[in-house]
Amino acid sequence: MTQPPFRRIATRGALAAAGAAVAGLGVVSFGLALAAEPAAPVSAIASRVETAADHVRLAIDLTGAVKPTAHVVANPARVIVDLPEVAFRIDSRNSRAPAGSKLLKSYRYGQFAPGRSRVVIDLAAPARILRAETEPARDGARLVIELAPTSEAHFNAAAAESAAELARSEPAPAAPAQPAPASDKPVVVIDPGHGGVDMGATGKHGEQEKAIVFEFARALVAKVEAGGRLKAVLTRSEDVFLPLNERVRIAHQNNAALFLSIHADTLAEGHVEGATVYTGSTKASDAEAARIAEKENLADAAAGLDSREDVERVGDILFGLAQRETRAFSAQFSQALIARWKEAGSLNKNPARSAGFVVLKSYDVPSVLLELGYLSSEKDLARLTSPEWRDRAAGKTAEAIEAFFAARLREARAPAAPPRPQ
Ligand SMILES: [Zn+2]
Repeated sequence: MTQPPFRRIATRGALAAAGAAVAGLGVVSFGLALAAEPAAPVSAIASRVETAADHVRLAIDLTGAVKPTAHVVANPARVIVDLPEVAFRIDSRNSRAPAGSKLLKSYRYGQFAPGRSRVVIDLAAPARILRAETEPARDGARLVIELAPTSEAHFNAAAAESAAELARSEPAPAAPAQPAPASDKPVVVIDPGHGGVDMGATGKHGEQEKAIVFEFARALVAKVEAGGRLKAVLTRSEDVFLPLNERVRIAHQNNAALFLSIHADTLAEGHVEGATVYTGSTKASDAEAARIAEKENLADAAAGLDSREDVERVGDILFGLAQRETRAFSAQFSQALIARWKEAGSLNKNPARSAGFVVLKSYDVPSVLLELGYLSSEKDLARLTSPEWRDRAAGKTAEAIEAFFAARLREARAPAAPPRPQ
């Protein structure tokens, strides 16, 4: 990735915050000095939060300068800092806000779209952006975000102003111009949850859901492909943010015959463990299912996107028929998955549930979401991070997928049942 031309630092862009004027000369001259250097990818290597009496400061050490664009966003209150591509090599265990920060609740960072990275700061109270800029540092540069308290009214006005600008800068969905090459085999779309700036759940020792489910999904694709009868497609093949609707769109674009989303959860308290298989439903099967769906559906918000539920729908009778059939197939696959996972020996005691997950709203692609287990459970965590367990569980999941398609093929080939005698 090449760096954007440095003259962009001189044009301060959208950063109209009070501190922007301070960015002035120092940053420009620094930029000019760097422009002579060969362009190397910028890495983020450390981050910390410093609290002062009247403001809070997030500092991220970088190997080179980048131009940030910062916005405040409401519902929930956040600050979003957009950057060109930055490789985040920060130990996630060292990225918590210090206890007692009245403004800054937590923050996360990662890739947002190809060539773009993002820092998302969750606010504990209304804040305004004092500074958002990179300044020279001994071994490279430092990204500095300074926030000060402000009134609710001022915050909401600033958030409304930045909403339109952010909507314009949202990554355009991948061009549908390149339709997936037609496959003579049924296509299974495997969807590793989260990615990039959206890290999903985290474990006690900094384990990240986005990485655990990605490893599992990759193992699963290999197992499915090895069977030779099916084609497996990943919704994301790297650590990048992907909006929920985009995942559904990829299933459609590939004419998927099955969509399987892979996740892992965490619980603040209680000892819950084991895998759970979810199908989509407007009414949740239980309170826990509703909680998990609500949490997973916040993935877009975690990355700073407005959550929208504009999954394509066709408002006629065919839609209703297709949806009913799709639900029946989803339920069939869910049962196959639970049957095989029983053999893997790590199922939740109530493994078949349903709730309103955004990624399960396809009306014509049988869709199931598999929560591999709980990062909050020591037993599950040991399983989820074990390559041997992953291999076995991915193998069982691939068997369930094979069994589902074998049953569908048998149904399709079976001669129509003779009419039953009355
Ligand atoms: Zn998840």
